[in-house]
Amino acid sequence: MDSAVQIRIHPAVDSGIKPASPGFSGGTLVCACTDRPVKVKIEGQIAHNHACGCTKCWKPKGADFSVVAVAPTDKVTVLENGDKLAVVDPSALIQRHACKECGVHMYGPVEREHAFQGLSFVHPERFQETGWAPPGFAAFVSSIIESGVDPGRMDGIRGRLKEVGLEPYDCLSPGLMDYVATWVAKKSGALPS
Ligand SMILES: [Zn+2]
Ligand SMILES: [Zn+2]
Repeated sequence: MDSAVQIRIHPAVDSGIKPASPGFSGGTLVCACTDRPVKVKIEGQIAHNHACGCTKCWKPKGADFSVVAVAPTDKVTVLENGDKLAVVDPSALIQRHACKECGVHMYGPVEREHAFQGLSFVHPERFQETGWAPPGFAAFVSSIIESGVDPGRMDGIRGRLKEVGLEPYDCLSPGLMDYVATWVAKKSGALPS
């Protein structure tokens, strides 16, 4: 059987990654509820979109990866039915606000002092609009084993990720790891700020 058929990375990847629209200026994220869906407005294009294999990100049913990006928290506004939102894990760096009924994570601000402070993690597949920046790499790939993926499937999964142009990393991408380490070094004084 064709490995592309067997391996389900994520619906937004498996069906062919769609390019960004140059004119995309933001949109509305909608949860999966048919009754009173939560709606969250994002102003502007998202950044650092990627497939993520960690166990904390929300993944659609049957997908081994999430697709997750960031937007500045001041560009995120809850429009409707915010009463259905609850923080999944208040102790986590990312305060993932999920719909209590359907479980979709709607936005996850980083409020703590961290390189990502001021950013919110969002799942762009929930945009009702098209044209958002596509995923550019795969993060925390080995972590899908923690969700129950057979370690023997990892070669095939990494191969499939490369095939669709998502370089697999077992943490964040080198660019983002450098960004985080630079922030830490400036904070400690190891680098001039
Ligand atoms: Zn919902
Ligand atoms: Zn993740």
